[in-house]
Amino acid sequence: MEQNYSVMNFGTFGQDLAAKGRVMAGQELGLTGCEVSFNYLEPNKFPPFVHTHKLNEEVYIVVSGEGMFKVDDEEFPIREGSFVRVAPAGERAIKAGDEGMTYICIQAQKGSLTQATSDDGVMVESKASWM
Ligand code: ZN
Repeated sequence: MEQNYSVMNFGTFGQDLAAKGRVMAGQELGLTGCEVSFNYLEPNKFPPFVHTHKLNEEVYIVVSGEGMFKVDDEEFPIREGSFVRVAPAGERAIKAGDEGMTYICIQAQKGSLTQATSDDGVMVESKASWM
């Protein structure tokens, strides 16, 4: 029987992630509907390219620090708590500010979510030990 979960601990968002730079959690966890990466950029560093996607939209979630984001002809500041959705065709780039930046990027195929999570969830009879 296929196991219904996978669990990983990638360490702290601060030191451990800084040592790795980037963790692609989707492969490690066996995700099949989206990719999730955890990323750390040293102060004022940036991936040296602008990119688009063929099929996937992305959401960038800033966990700590601050920086700048570019989509097409616009550049704007981002900081802890910022969520940025980018359509596949959006030409995007990211840069850390003086504090460095930790962010999560989730990508999934545009249009693939056909129902909201509240419509997809199904309550069942079993209980957890803390209930
Ligand atoms: Zn991307």
